[in-house]
Amino acid sequence: MKKNLSHYINGQPYDGRSNRYADGFNPATGEIITSVPLASTDEVALAVAAAKAAFPAWSETPALKRARVLFNFKALLDKHQDELAELITREHGKVFSDAKGEVMRGIEVVEFACGIPQLFKGQYSDQIGGGIDNWSMRQALGVVAGITPFNFPMMVPCWMFPVAIACGNTFVLKPSERDPSASLRLAELLTEAGLPPGVFNVVHGDKQAVDALIAHPDVEALSFVGSTPIAEYIYAEGTRRGKRVQALGGAKNHLVVMPDADLDQVTDALMGAAYGSAGERCMAISVAVAVGDVADKVIERLIPRVKALVVKDGMQGDAEMGPLVTAQHRNKVIGYIEDGVAAGAELVVDGRGLKVPGAEKGFFLGGTLFDKVKPAMNIYREEIFGPVLCVVRVPDFAAAVELINAHEFGNGVACFTSDGGVARAFARQIKVGMVGINVPIPVPMAWHSFGGWKRSLFGDHHAYGEEGIRFYSRYKSVMQRWPDSIAKGAEFTMPVAK
Ligand code: NAD
Repeated sequence: MKKNLSHYINGQPYDGRSNRYADGFNPATGEIITSVPLASTDEVALAVAAAKAAFPAWSETPALKRARVLFNFKALLDKHQDELAELITREHGKVFSDAKGEVMRGIEVVEFACGIPQLFKGQYSDQIGGGIDNWSMRQALGVVAGITPFNFPMMVPCWMFPVAIACGNTFVLKPSERDPSASLRLAELLTEAGLPPGVFNVVHGDKQAVDALIAHPDVEALSFVGSTPIAEYIYAEGTRRGKRVQALGGAKNHLVVMPDADLDQVTDALMGAAYGSAGERCMAISVAVAVGDVADKVIERLIPRVKALVVKDGMQGDAEMGPLVTAQHRNKVIGYIEDGVAAGAELVVDGRGLKVPGAEKGFFLGGTLFDKVKPAMNIYREEIFGPVLCVVRVPDFAAAVELINAHEFGNGVACFTSDGGVARAFARQIKVGMVGINVPIPVPMAWHSFGGWKRSLFGDHHAYGEEGIRFYSRYKSVMQRWPDSIAKGAEFTMPVAK
């Protein structure tokens, strides 16, 4: 049964009136399960107006009271974890246990944001001159917007709005039109938690809705997570209009295998990080960089494991990998596999022939492994975003670092070694934002911050953690003295401490 979705504006569902809709699929069955309204410019303006109207009261609400709403929200998220994870699996396709992990990583940011009274505390300097004090504080920006990708329909919105609203802003979320139901459930739970109407709004849509958010004069800041061309576009268009923008883009994450690494641990790490969530993670490992003579040993271990991957509907308990998000995306990934073969890479496991019994219309693709991939090939240079792992062979550590540093993207990276000196040198020399030493997917915890380097992030602030607090607030410095400490007479020199 197809469900017609609504937007969520001013604390309640709002039926779309644009007469434009997108189909939402269950990728495991290929069935259309939702009809997603695509917002017009006027509907976006309605959501922004609701957020603007809610801002004065919400930003004046003491931080402790804002935190209490978030504490209630966190309790509701705990209670509804399975329901949220199921919504994610049905629309995205990732396996249920992975979806639960996503829900938990989202909850962690809410937990961090509950500390807003402490996080928002200013600094005070007493007596910086005779009878004069100076303090600094942070204040909310106003209406801020988030535009999010399909691959983490709950976690990525949670990188943004809990921190934004904790700081006193009001929020308009434009989630991916491919899996929008989790966002709507989050909106309902926020209302149930006691969030005033208009503080958090959801508008579904495509480029038209995004362009309306970028152009709207009342939107003070934009947070974006998605592919690099769109990240670059939103950064350029948003900053051109004087908005604050953080735009996180695509990735090509390498895992360096040093000759002294434990190869069983490496194999486990590569399996989970390359094929988990069918490779549709911005922190997925898509390149294994084999140093010295380890390549043959790694390939030999990987082949049987990749062939044995349990690929099926993510709601089935033993599934290790689900389908890709859409038929169109699966075709794109297949196109990359054909391109890799044509370019001369060695296809050692081919996932294209996979059939999932009883789910012939699902968007499945089996795990795929390439050896002897060269840096000039498209399958090395571009983000595939599917269950395809490329092995590149390099002679030594220096060549591994040079290869990675020359790549256009710099989101995540890992190095597997048992040598502390190598590990230290790697962490210091590598030009990548998030580094794992014997950790394949080093997604920072909620009180650190998430973000890549190079063309994986446009802007100055990473997401959530202290960087998130800084992004969603303005710094203000106040200097004060009282009449009895003011000396008579005008001063024409630059004031200095006396
Ligand atoms: P996408 O760029 O296609 O879409 C992201 C958002 O932008 C969606 O809300 C979409 O509706 C909107 N959008 C799409 N086309 C647009 C256009 N022409 N103009 C304006 N808005 C547009 O990305 P996706 O396919 O949903 O997600 C996968 C991508 O996201 C991958 O590249 C992945 O690496 C990246 N990603 C990055 C991070 C990170 O932290 N760096 C995290 C998750 C995903």
